Amino acid sequence: GALVVGLDIGGSKTHGALWRDGILVAEARAGSANVQNVTREDAARSLGELFRDLLSTEPSGRIGRVVAGSGGVDTEADADRLRALIAPHAPGAAIDVVHDTRLILAAGGARAGIAVIAGTGSVAWGVTEDGRQARSGGWGYLLGDEGSGYWVAREAVRRALHRHDVGLRPDTLDAAVLALNGVTTPTELIGLFHSGAGRTYWAAQSRAVFDAAQDGHEDAAAIVDQAAADLTRLILDVASVIGIPGPVVLGGGLAMHQPALQARLRDRLAAADITRVVFLEEDPVKGVRFLMAG
Ligand code: BGC
Repeated sequence: GALVVGLDIGGSKTHGALWRDGILVAEARAGSANVQNVTREDAARSLGELFRDLLSTEPSGRIGRVVAGSGGVDTEADADRLRALIAPHAPGAAIDVVHDTRLILAAGGARAGIAVIAGTGSVAWGVTEDGRQARSGGWGYLLGDEGSGYWVAREAVRRALHRHDVGLRPDTLDAAVLALNGVTTPTELIGLFHSGAGRTYWAAQSRAVFDAAQDGHEDAAAIVDQAAADLTRLILDVASVIGIPGPVVLGGGLAMHQPALQARLRDRLAAADITRVVFLEEDPVKGVRFLMAG
């Protein structure tokens, strides 16, 4: 039977799934292939690795269709560029490129609702039953991405620098950030930040903030709370345009795996009378099956 490939292309990773006759037969992971974050060469390499791993058990299978949900796809030209990177791995296949938010809503089993991503980047997007859409944020790390992993980590770096400027000794959060970067003084972080380490590198360090918040660190908790506030604002922006047409479904590494953020988001959304809130447990790529069925 014809094979279907689903791709979830985030800021830090690419997750692929392979279906044969509607049955999931393989999954694979590779580095990000989001051309907003990594070079074209890196994106091409990651996709090459991913397709090789994904098809290793189906060497003679023909891919009939690829559905790729990706961040950093804001125009038709962006979609075409990504399609061109995928095409060599799926000759003759129909290739659909959609924004990564589509996978979130689909993985949540909802046709209408608001999808939120808090991962390496952040965004909110919603759609009504009759197809009206709205989006807030998701402009990438240079312009926005409030409440994302990159943003959370950058806040911790900024805090360490500020404390250093005013003569304070590194506290536990500062020390965690310094250790993650293998440096001893906050000022060394400035050069690192400008050296092109990339947002994937920094986003991974948001973990230090969540860990500190969990241990009762007040400023870390405040950063997490600000992230929840910013993400809530994205959701309310979308709601101001299309209302709340269904559940609010949240995906991405932070939203799926950081209970401190989940708790604050729930509180803030409840305060805005939004109670149908789903934190995805299913990987977003699984939404591809739902998209194809609909
Ligand atoms: C990208 C968006 C994406 C979001 C969540 C942002 O950095 O610009 O396109 O939807 O991250 O992955």
